[in-house]
Amino acid sequence: MERHETRILLVEDEEGLVMTLGDRLRAEGYFFEAALEGNRGFTTARDGSWNLVILDVMLPGKNGYDICRDLRAAGSKVPILMLTARGLVFDRVLGLKLGADDYLCKPFETSELLARIEALLRRPPLGDGRESGPGGRADGDPGSRGREDYDGFSIDFTKGVVIRDNCEEALSAQEYKLLAWLSAHPGELFSRERLLQEVWGYGSPVSTRTVDVHVAWLRQKLGDSGPAPRHIVTVRGLGYRFTP
Ligand code: CA
Repeated sequence: MERHETRILLVEDEEGLVMTLGDRLRAEGYFFEAALEGNRGFTTARDGSWNLVILDVMLPGKNGYDICRDLRAAGSKVPILMLTARGLVFDRVLGLKLGADDYLCKPFETSELLARIEALLRRPPLGDGRESGPGGRADGDPGSRGREDYDGFSIDFTKGVVIRDNCEEALSAQEYKLLAWLSAHPGELFSRERLLQEVWGYGSPVSTRTVDVHVAWLRQKLGDSGPAPRHIVTVRGLGYRFTP
């Protein structure tokens, strides 16, 4: 994709930051637009024309968490980068839990933001076949798997949700990919390193701890977060295994 076709929306109320980032992103060749208020940001982000949305958390009108959650609830799979307050672990975890793909703590270096943007844009869109593997049912688009029923829950790959007790739980992009991968290889043991490679992509700068965090979130959504999870099983010292 040529950069000038790459559309980035920034939802941010600090005008100075909007100007600085806007100038820099345009100079890098991106198409850039900003919304200075949350409700407008949400409406704009939802129109489906964006390759990436950058969301500040503290916004007038509608905060970044609510925008993120509502975008995912509306079925948007646009990559979302959240700008969170410095050092607040809770902020970061909540952002990812609500479906953000990455976060950056304020204040940040513009070069760091550009690196994150590139990493997110390089990620293949959901279901473009990165999940494919020899013998796996995830070959091609996981969305084509439709709905699959498991013991105690269902996965709707078309909508990117887990259904439990008739309630839908939206999956973040990474949760979706991780669950698609694991459930396509039932009974197979995967190391954290292998999952990082298959789900996050080779050379991804995240640590194996990320896998554990996403497994924990997935278990919650599957209703499998008791002391002895039975669907996503921890194999001590080795990794994880999915049991239908
Ligand atoms: Ca703000």
